[in-house]
Amino acid sequence: MSLLTVGTVAFDDIETPFGKAEMAIGGAATYISLAASYYTKNINLVSVIGDDFPEETLNDMRSRGINLDGLQVRKGEKSFFWAGKYHDNMNDRDTLDTQLNVLATFDPVLPDTYKTPEYLMLGNLTPDVQIRVIEQLEKRPKLIALDTMNFWMDNALGSLMKVIKMIDALIINDEEARQLSGEHSLVKAAAKIMEMGPKYLVIKKGEHGALLFHGDQIFFAPALPLAEVFDPTGAGDTFAGGFMGYMSQTDDLSFDNMKRGIIYGSAMASFCVEKFSIQRLLELDDIAITSRIKRFVNLVNFDAKL
Ligand code: AMP
Repeated sequence: MSLLTVGTVAFDDIETPFGKAEMAIGGAATYISLAASYYTKNINLVSVIGDDFPEETLNDMRSRGINLDGLQVRKGEKSFFWAGKYHDNMNDRDTLDTQLNVLATFDPVLPDTYKTPEYLMLGNLTPDVQIRVIEQLEKRPKLIALDTMNFWMDNALGSLMKVIKMIDALIINDEEARQLSGEHSLVKAAAKIMEMGPKYLVIKKGEHGALLFHGDQIFFAPALPLAEVFDPTGAGDTFAGGFMGYMSQTDDLSFDNMKRGIIYGSAMASFCVEKFSIQRLLELDDIAITSRIKRFVNLVNFDAKL
């Protein structure tokens, strides 16, 4: 099944207790599409970059089967830029800078071959752009998932609420769920957010795993306890990409399959944090992924005599 994704393709300055990287490759759509590419080869990407973005990275993406026909390249302009600094716990971070650059005036134009995806992953970027992507589709996808962040809650809440009504699954972190709902309890937050539109809600809790809500059902997936975490940037997007890549490959929207999707997404996120930027996502293979999924199965598998 085909997967369409939109999101930023960007440069990041990242500071962690382990080191600094300047102008590292980042962006929500970069992480999403690379993660998804390990589960499906039918990926179309829509985004915008300036002519400062390295051709080498675009070739890396193409060689993983990601179609970039919908990636606009603006001559003489700069790509989206974000700078963040992680706290010692590596879970919390402060955004130091966000420069929209090419994103400020981005109007996504879907090539004709992009207009009938079965699966749509609206990665983190301007909610109005996410809406414009949905509006150009010729039929409704089987599953529309959306990721966003506090930046858009602070700067574009009206459009964000509009797009949230149009989707099936919202993927956000715990602090964002609290901000969006005004509830501290994640269970209460989930109930309120599902009333806003989405039937499914995924709340990511960084190193503490992720929760999947649907009606009154809840599933919890742990994050893999890792001895070393170098750079959590992109873990959330990688999770979303792994999840949607798995869903589009298996094409089964049952709650049980969504649970598997959450574990497959968590497995991809556990790789992402092991190296800076997208490095780790460029060097994986099926053997590494299968053995990581087995570690997840072992982590949560137990026998209860009830
Ligand atoms: P994550 O760590 O999964 O939340 O994603 C980090 C990535 O999101 C970085 O590579 C940034 O380039 C990108 N990013 C940061 N802020 C924004 C924003 N306001 N809109 C879209 N993408 C962003």
